[in-house]
Amino acid sequence: MSRERHTEGPAIGTLKPTKPGLLVLDIDEVVLEFIAPFERLLEEMGARLHVDGFRLTGNVRSISTGTALTGHELDGITARLYEEQIERQPAVPGVLKALESLSSLADIVFLTAMTPSYHARRRTLLDGLGLTHPMIATERSKGGVVAELAALWGGPVVFVDDLPPNLEAVRRSVPEVHLVHLMANTVFRPHLPPLPPGALAAADWDEAEALIRERLAVA
Ligand SMILES: [Mg+2]
Repeated sequence: MSRERHTEGPAIGTLKPTKPGLLVLDIDEVVLEFIAPFERLLEEMGARLHVDGFRLTGNVRSISTGTALTGHELDGITARLYEEQIERQPAVPGVLKALESLSSLADIVFLTAMTPSYHARRRTLLDGLGLTHPMIATERSKGGVVAELAALWGGPVVFVDDLPPNLEAVRRSVPEVHLVHLMANTVFRPHLPPLPPGALAAADWDEAEALIRERLAVA
């Protein structure tokens, strides 16, 4: 496999700040539902998620045989979900209202680790929801990408993600970035690894919007 890290979307240097502050948002489980549509797709395929830890592999089993699906099979199901995302992935409750309001305070950039080849499909989906902010889909660590974005903006930066390791990667690269944890679905919440120091937890977009608003104001 190639060691090159693929990226789709605008080059960071072409993005033009229009406000001092920047809000960088992960997409799956922050802007678009991922786990609930993934579970619906599993049901259609005769499998089910039984969560006993913070991972998918080993936690998805055939309904008829009880056999755990392999990582390769799960990758195939994730690919199909991304393929069919326009029909399958709804907006997370409250996100449209929150972003409409927050977009008057800060520029918004979407940063997703989704396989970059699905960028055009996801762009169509987001545009259809009125979420026309730039989107970068990359296999790079989010830490490096957020560091480059933060250098362009200069004002307060807030980063929101559902995966604690991504929050940690950003904290290590750019310690001054404000971190907010938001995971729309509740099934993995009891199994989450600890959040990095300083990260704030939001249960839903109402809470996230209030936390983001405070961070954009104080910095
Ligand atoms: Mg995510």
